[in-house]
Amino acid sequence: MVDYTLKNIERCQCGKCPVYLSSNCAKAKNATIDWSSGELPPAKAIEGIYCAGAVGKSRCDDLDKTKRCACPTCPVWEDYALQGTYFCIGGAAE
Ligand code: SF4
Ligand code: SF4
Repeated sequence: MVDYTLKNIERCQCGKCPVYLSSNCAKAKNATIDWSSGELPPAKAIEGIYCAGAVGKSRCDDLDKTKRCACPTCPVWEDYALQGTYFCIGGAAE
């Protein structure tokens, strides 16, 4: 199971992914997160790192899943030997 950590958030490619970028809802939710403390935000507040067990699928329903998932370009995906994609739609990696 993928760990919900600051290091993995930093490495996550969802923020550059066309599926995420298609969602005004997801971008708006992330815009409310205060990163100034340097602490991990609540897992259910973040949009991204959807593969992590603590996060899981997006709380938004406007993601355009016809666009290409960027997970296979992600170092987290490689590190954890993930095989699935579109965790924002289907939920966390097993
Ligand atoms: S594998 Fe996908 S969901 Fe998981 S951290 Fe990387 S880009 Fe984000
Ligand atoms: S899980 Fe994949 S499809 Fe969804 S936003 Fe992240 S990189 Fe894009």
